Amino acid sequence: MSENETIAPHGGSLVDLLATGEPAAALAAEAANLPKIIVSDRELSDLEMLAVGALSPLIGFQGRGDYHSVLETMRLESGLAWSIPVTLSLTEEEAHRLGGADSAALVPAEGLAPLAVLRIGEIFARDRQKEALAVYRTDDPEHPGVAALRSAGDFCAAGTLEVISLPEHDDFLSYRLAPSQTRAVFAERGWRTVVGFQTRNPIHRAHEYIQKCALEIVDGLLVHPLVGATKGDDVPADVRMRCYEALFEGYYPKDRAMVSVFPAAMRYAGPREAIWHAIARKNYGCTHFIVGRDHAGVGSYYGTYDAQEIFEEFEPGELGIMPLKFEHSFWCNACEGMGSPKTCPHDEERRVSLSGSKVREMLRAGERPPLEFSRAEVADILIAAMQDG
Ligand SMILES: [Zn+2]
Repeated sequence: MSENETIAPHGGSLVDLLATGEPAAALAAEAANLPKIIVSDRELSDLEMLAVGALSPLIGFQGRGDYHSVLETMRLESGLAWSIPVTLSLTEEEAHRLGGADSAALVPAEGLAPLAVLRIGEIFARDRQKEALAVYRTDDPEHPGVAALRSAGDFCAAGTLEVISLPEHDDFLSYRLAPSQTRAVFAERGWRTVVGFQTRNPIHRAHEYIQKCALEIVDGLLVHPLVGATKGDDVPADVRMRCYEALFEGYYPKDRAMVSVFPAAMRYAGPREAIWHAIARKNYGCTHFIVGRDHAGVGSYYGTYDAQEIFEEFEPGELGIMPLKFEHSFWCNACEGMGSPKTCPHDEERRVSLSGSKVREMLRAGERPPLEFSRAEVADILIAAMQDG
């Protein structure tokens, strides 16, 4: 770890799988003649994360040994903490078509240029039931992660990746920083400690309060919204991004806070995903990570504090990054300020709290939620987006 680095990447060094210049051209030429594997949107996110080192120390899609080790122990075969398998699925027909090839070209869709070459180490059968119960703690097909798992192929192709180019994006271009780039920004700003905030939702006063509580004890804040695939009913990423911009403009110190996007797809795996999110943020250079109630949860599949408690299943130092566990927070009229059940002694009726469905109802009706709940700038963006949609 170099002197001006905040924290070493998971496993010790930052992975970079992206070829450039002559080797990239040679790889593209080779890929043109290889059998192809079409990767799903979610796997494309993983490919991008692998390429830029967000999933360090992984250098490709995981094989059978790591797959089972992760499911059973939340650790790689090497013993390093890792909570969710990173696999590339294959249907039986695709596996057949590869016919023992030792390399394959990964393409985002039929007819598009290959993004990467996979040096195939092995092809193995996935154990759907075991994976569902370990990762999602349920095999209910209504769970979005389980549903995605059910529709994926029966086999996984594992091996190291050589990346020709990153998936193309036409949005958030100035916010797409790789881990090496966020690390460079932190170093440039002289931040030694940085807290990461994962989100797939607009930021209301409660989230702002939590972020600022954390920022009181560290040098910098990285708001790191997830922009890979989410459920259809989550607020679209571009709307969320306009909210973050408005909030940063008006209420965050420019030299202590930044927004960048996290290219991961949402798995809704609750506790296991909280660990995975923390490890990835460590790779981006964060020393601390905010874990709220029901982090990465969906419906009522996980207990309120499961995603916080799972951090106790690791020895101190195993993860490296420090979880900061927060309660839900609110404005209290008696305290005349933001607080949480940890800091406010008053009862429910003095606190301004609204359910998610009540907030959506107000926004749809063109009505701003109370200023104690949501900044007017954020409310107006959400109202406009609801009325467009
Ligand atoms: Zn109070």
